[in-house]
Amino acid sequence: MLQVRMPEAFKVDYLELPVPAIGDDEVLVQMKRVGVCGSDIQIYHGKHKYMTFPVVQGHEGAGVIAKVGAKVAGLKIGDRVTIQPQVVCGECAPCRGGHYNVCKNLKVYGVHTGGMFAEYFPVPASKVLLLPAAISFDEGALVEPAAVATGAIRRCGDIEGLNVVVLGAGAIGNLVAQVAVASGARKVLITDINQNRLDIANKCGIHACVDTRGRKLKDVIVEQFGDDEADIIIDCAGGKAIFDEAVAAARCSSKIVIVANYKEPVEVELPLFQRREVDLLGIMMYVREDFERAVELMASKAIDTAPLISDYFDIRKVDEVYPYIDSHPDTVMKVVIKVSE
Ligand SMILES: [Zn+2]
Ligand SMILES: [Zn+2]
Repeated sequence: MLQVRMPEAFKVDYLELPVPAIGDDEVLVQMKRVGVCGSDIQIYHGKHKYMTFPVVQGHEGAGVIAKVGAKVAGLKIGDRVTIQPQVVCGECAPCRGGHYNVCKNLKVYGVHTGGMFAEYFPVPASKVLLLPAAISFDEGALVEPAAVATGAIRRCGDIEGLNVVVLGAGAIGNLVAQVAVASGARKVLITDINQNRLDIANKCGIHACVDTRGRKLKDVIVEQFGDDEADIIIDCAGGKAIFDEAVAAARCSSKIVIVANYKEPVEVELPLFQRREVDLLGIMMYVREDFERAVELMASKAIDTAPLISDYFDIRKVDEVYPYIDSHPDTVMKVVIKVSE
């Protein structure tokens, strides 16, 4: 079978390997589609802090079960599936508390351990979720990012009737905003400085999609929500300037939720958080329930992931994907790799 491996930054190798054997509690998934994530680009550039080369990338996958281990119940050959890509220890304090998404020994397929850029991927049956017929393989590659969104909204608590702002209308921001709408937010505002992304958000039913170029976030929030302003500000863009805008726009008892990937420390004005009783929440990936909710919302069309797919590449062209994404920052939303038909 074909496997795509990155031996070092900026380098892609295509290997021909035997189809992997599986353990008794594993299934073999014939991969159909695998999404390319922002973290994959960081890995390509050698800028990802917590991984080592060589690596087989791919943590956003959909495929068909080709083989079932002797002790696996409830799954059969031909089942259409997606994969929750976390390997956790189950023993550390976060794991014992149900927060295994921040397991002390967390490994993610395609980042810290082998991923799905291959024709076949062996995986414990416990990591597999069935894809309902209403979810295509193309969309199946979007379940993982959608689970980031359901995880983020879960972390916000009950958002019914609340005013929610999402900063950044890339794939994750778009999905977070869609899940906020589907979860009963009173009004969801999404902001960006890229009109293409805002148009896609609009197509996906986000209530207000606003270009904030040259404008203060606080002013846009008042314009959209009136005196009540924003209950929740979710940062899916990242960077000191964005965070400062979020803090300046937070009113008393707002929540600021960090979904974006921050690489550098950012100074915060602590007295302001105290005086305004602003909550600052971090969110890291998802748990099983978030994956299940993502599948549910996609299957019922409460959220629509199809408009997010901007480009397809064949698995034999993975080396072209990263330079393409780097040179098309304005139009690329989500690239999906076609592994097999
Ligand atoms: Zn990802
Ligand atoms: Zn753990």
